[in-house]
Amino acid sequence: MSVNIPFDNSFARLPSTFFARQTPHPVKQPALIGFNSVLADILRVSQGDTVEMAQVFAGNQIPTGAEPLAQIYAGHQFGTFNPQLGDGRAILMGETIGRDGLRRDIQLKGSGQTPFSRRGDGRAWLGPVLREYVVSEAMHALGIATTRALAAVETGETVWREGGMPGAVLTRVAASHLRVGTFQYFAARSDKTALKQLTQYAIDRHYPDADGPMGLLRAVRDGQSALIASWMSVGFIHGVMNTDNCAISGETIDYGPCAFMDVYHPNTVFSSIDRMGRYAYANQPDIAVWNLAQLATALIQQMEDPQQGVEQATEIVHAMPQLTQDLWLDRFRAKLGMTSKRDGDLELITGLLNVMAEHQADFTNTFNALANSKARDQFADPLAFDAWATGWQARLDAEADPQATMRAANPLFIPRNHRIEEMIAAAVNGDYAPFHRLNRVLARPFCDQPEDADLMAAPLQQEIVQATFC
Ligand code: AMP
Ligand code: MG
Ligand code: MG
Repeated sequence: MSVNIPFDNSFARLPSTFFARQTPHPVKQPALIGFNSVLADILRVSQGDTVEMAQVFAGNQIPTGAEPLAQIYAGHQFGTFNPQLGDGRAILMGETIGRDGLRRDIQLKGSGQTPFSRRGDGRAWLGPVLREYVVSEAMHALGIATTRALAAVETGETVWREGGMPGAVLTRVAASHLRVGTFQYFAARSDKTALKQLTQYAIDRHYPDADGPMGLLRAVRDGQSALIASWMSVGFIHGVMNTDNCAISGETIDYGPCAFMDVYHPNTVFSSIDRMGRYAYANQPDIAVWNLAQLATALIQQMEDPQQGVEQATEIVHAMPQLTQDLWLDRFRAKLGMTSKRDGDLELITGLLNVMAEHQADFTNTFNALANSKARDQFADPLAFDAWATGWQARLDAEADPQATMRAANPLFIPRNHRIEEMIAAAVNGDYAPFHRLNRVLARPFCDQPEDADLMAAPLQQEIVQATFC
């Protein structure tokens, strides 16, 4: 058997102003690190031997039916608009329609320079490739909308970052790579024709029931609200919520300096490039509104009556904070064992979070200890938890099976930063066992896995990761 990908490409049919045709640049010595056969099966991608798979997923061998291209987009980076970004180190190979009937992009990331590389080398090093592989697959297993990882390949080449690092290529699978920034690119050029084509393409591909540009805006809003609520519920911090990293599909995209919180604090930031804390944990719902407003501004341009567009878009965007908070409330109610809705739930939830922040409680382990009455041990002062828990116990009288609700809502295993860093350090030394172990355990985050219980532990003082780099 050899690698076969049943491509069915649609983006490559759009006008040539949407992309630049570009083949991946071959690498010296590709070697397969990981291949996601479960995902491959959904995509109807058939496997070859490891040598051939390394060639294909490094970009050295172009599979039949691929139409490699680099997508164009713009974006606000940390609030500043850049009118031209684009795939500087990624190539869209094409799309497949999976067994589930869903169309997905297959993209190589780290496959060399494109017309949009600016001063970049077009490459990726092993660390970020393995982080994205593990974290995106973990997010999927947590039930969070996300791009996924099909393969990771070593290139046998050195990539220069702080020093010389081993190069790698990730094969990323996404519902699409359309971003808020894709719309901004054409809006910045007042290209109404392209905006209309892009809007129709996005509606056809993601939201076939949406009615026109404002229908699309509403659908993206709903998707982003649900996504942010799901991130908040597992302590995930994206790290670079620039508008070019905000997917129209509602999936989490572009895992750079992302991280899961250990100790809970709303102002937590890990990203080394986020000096102002713009993308801190608790800012994420507001930033998503800011990003949606940029999409609104871009979409309005194509409307016959821009004034009416402004009024409709304003209403849609202004409804987002409440929508996100309602979904956030549902998520956090479940984390506390509650399925019914009562006045005072918001105060009960924020009450716990405040005590957690004040007493340095581990986010994941506190919530999963709620179901077994051990949560108080997570607090620097357990009495502070007890004071809060009295009201919570009374509230649980209204619930039929709070333990089951909590177990279904609170993961036992998350990709903790110190484990990710440990896995990357091992991989740089040629040991991929921790990478494979993390993938195996994180595929079942809600299941007891006693032999791997060490992966549940919060970091020791000397293991704490202070900053993440992309
Ligand atoms: P990111 O922060 O990863 O979302 O990337 C922002 C922009 O920089 C995108 O246009 C990327 O394609 C581009 N970029 C990031 N790293 C590189 C690189 N090593 N070479 C070329 N372009 C890059
Ligand atoms: Mg990006
Ligand atoms: Mg990136």
